[in-house]
Amino acid sequence: MARIALATHNAHKVGEILAILEPLVPSLADGDIASAGELGAPSPVEDGTSFAENALIKARALCASSGLPAIADDSGIAVDIMGGAPGIFSALWCGRHGADAENLQLLLDQMADIPAAHRGAAFVCAAVLVKPDGTEVVETGTVRGALATTASGSNGFGYDPIFIPDGYAVTSAELSPEQKNAISHRAAAFRALAPHIAATLIPKGVSD
Ligand code: IMP
Repeated sequence: MARIALATHNAHKVGEILAILEPLVPSLADGDIASAGELGAPSPVEDGTSFAENALIKARALCASSGLPAIADDSGIAVDIMGGAPGIFSALWCGRHGADAENLQLLLDQMADIPAAHRGAAFVCAAVLVKPDGTEVVETGTVRGALATTASGSNGFGYDPIFIPDGYAVTSAELSPEQKNAISHRAAAFRALAPHIAATLIPKGVSD
């Protein structure tokens, strides 16, 4: 039976998060983590004003409905010259939720006249753990980079084809999953959360 619930319906994110956690939480066994989809949990309204608030909304709802410790993340792309937008609206920037290609194209169009020196951006991720006893842990990860002028690469998801991480000459979508996980905002946030997740897997009494 699952021992931790993961508040995402995005299969790609489930894969990334499991790949990040597996080496860091050796006590994590197959089947320990069940996604919101697998648990049949409804998606709450994400009406927070920050990545951390929205992640907490998702994890609190899933913890309450499943009775399990719940982990969630909320993430997006924050463009410097746009004052941090799309930010928490990244997934529905074009007006429809999860339309990755349209979201990315709209952002490219909005930034079309902006020169290279002012195309700085960051991927930001808040990863949270909410436990049935009310304990809440919030960790944030950021990766800085710049927006490309055209999309390239087919790995990853979302804005990966137009994000060039600092220190690289290619987009996130041209990195292998292993390369992306080594530097990504989600990896940084979940790396920080991993010890807290590991602690919830220790059977009661063992650590007392
Ligand atoms: P969330 O599922 O509410 O966290 O929304 C995240 C949205 O931000 C996604 O739909 C993507 O558009 C964008 N995003 C977050 N993380 C990444 C990433 O690692 N690569 C590309 N886009 C991302």
